[in-house]
Amino acid sequence: MNSRTLVATMALLAANSCTAPAPEQQFLTDALTALGGRSRIAAAKTLVIEGKGVNYNLGQDMRPEAATQTFEVSGYVRKIDLTNRRQRIEQTRTPRFAYFQGPQPQTQIQAVDGDIAFNVNPAGEPSRVAAQAEQDRRVEWYHHPITALRSAVDSASSVSNVRTVGTDVRQADFTSGDKQWTMTISAAGLPLSISSRTSHPNLGDVVVTTTFADYQDTSGIKLPARLTGKVDEFTTWEINATRQAIDTDLGDLAAPSAVAAKPASPAAPNVTVQVLGEGVWLLSGQSHHSALIEFADHLMLIDAPQSEARTLAVIAKAKAIVPNKSLDELVTTHHHFDHTAGLRAAVYSGLTVITHAGNKEWVEHMARRPHTLQPDILAKNVSRLNIETVDGEREFTDQSMTVRLYHVAGNPHSDTMLMAYLPRQRILIQVDAFSPGPAVQPYAANLLENIQKRNLRVDTIVPLHGAVAPMAELVKVAGGAKTN
Ligand SMILES: [Zn+2]
Repeated sequence: MNSRTLVATMALLAANSCTAPAPEQQFLTDALTALGGRSRIAAAKTLVIEGKGVNYNLGQDMRPEAATQTFEVSGYVRKIDLTNRRQRIEQTRTPRFAYFQGPQPQTQIQAVDGDIAFNVNPAGEPSRVAAQAEQDRRVEWYHHPITALRSAVDSASSVSNVRTVGTDVRQADFTSGDKQWTMTISAAGLPLSISSRTSHPNLGDVVVTTTFADYQDTSGIKLPARLTGKVDEFTTWEINATRQAIDTDLGDLAAPSAVAAKPASPAAPNVTVQVLGEGVWLLSGQSHHSALIEFADHLMLIDAPQSEARTLAVIAKAKAIVPNKSLDELVTTHHHFDHTAGLRAAVYSGLTVITHAGNKEWVEHMARRPHTLQPDILAKNVSRLNIETVDGEREFTDQSMTVRLYHVAGNPHSDTMLMAYLPRQRILIQVDAFSPGPAVQPYAANLLENIQKRNLRVDTIVPLHGAVAPMAELVKVAGGAKTN
């Protein structure tokens, strides 16, 4: 080795050992450089994204796996105050399907100010969101390249665990207090996505991801013009920016004093009992009800809605009403999240789930998904899922009770929905197809069609939303007999 080679080798070693930045530093530098440079990002105070897009209807669509029902999003304005960690998203969404609240556009305002998350209703009244939603929104504030990188520049968050995915994509974990998220960048340093983990009452552990595309220059900073939100593999929203601005005046985004106090923890579920006929009870209270049916040697429950707490309270009440018979069966009317949030608690309680064949895979999926972030009762006490299915119809009968489950065919609310008919009591138990009370009943005509098509002799409609109603009320609301 001659002296010149030795010097060159020493220089190379020195560069490798002393001046090569840590992978975390390199990750930040590459991302900041790709977006316009550290000092430009550090100087930015506000960001506005205006655009339009689509919201999907995860957990409320026609079939469990479907993504066919969408809301058109217009007037989307997202204002971000980088200095004070505040954000306000305003959008108008118009259902492009038979929505239960009707076809009119709805304006939504969702805001976060530091650790406080709140909504503002159309009357301008703010209300603090529930604890889990608040936690999610505090983390999702960082689901934008600028908010996430700015927090690292300001030393409000730390970066760790840089790894390469595939050949040239890198990921790193960010931590800020109790919040954590993961950023993925391209070989050129452009942020491709930001994701974080959270707990969903129906799905358990989920990854919420925002992806970024179509970067465009705005006042010296590259901003993604296309943003897409996902929960695991399900796309939940898409926004295409039509105008973006840096450092414009946003007005006051501070949380109003009315929402400063922590929301009261939800009250324990109340279960009100109403006798509907011999061996039939409505277990109501809050917004979602269940029905209890007594056979000669066992009990059947219809729907386990809202939450684990509500379902456990409903099961306890059922056992108190008929203490000498076991509660063996749960009929799950349809797959929607609000009507299945207690399904796992019912599985834990040993109930066999009976549902439409089209929901089978989804029920199995919900019963076995991991719930490690917030272990529920089924996660703590793994129980076997027993499931039985119904296609067009199925009868459950013994000497004291007959229940016929029918598919509510062609209903625009859900493709895989069941209703329960009790021929002896002339009672029809159904949910969502007809909820006495609200002015808009987009699914009632189809329910009436299903009743007439099967020549069911119904005196009483028992809805699992709203109050019990005579059959005449359904006929009136559905606009008379419409068979075809
Ligand atoms: Zn529903």
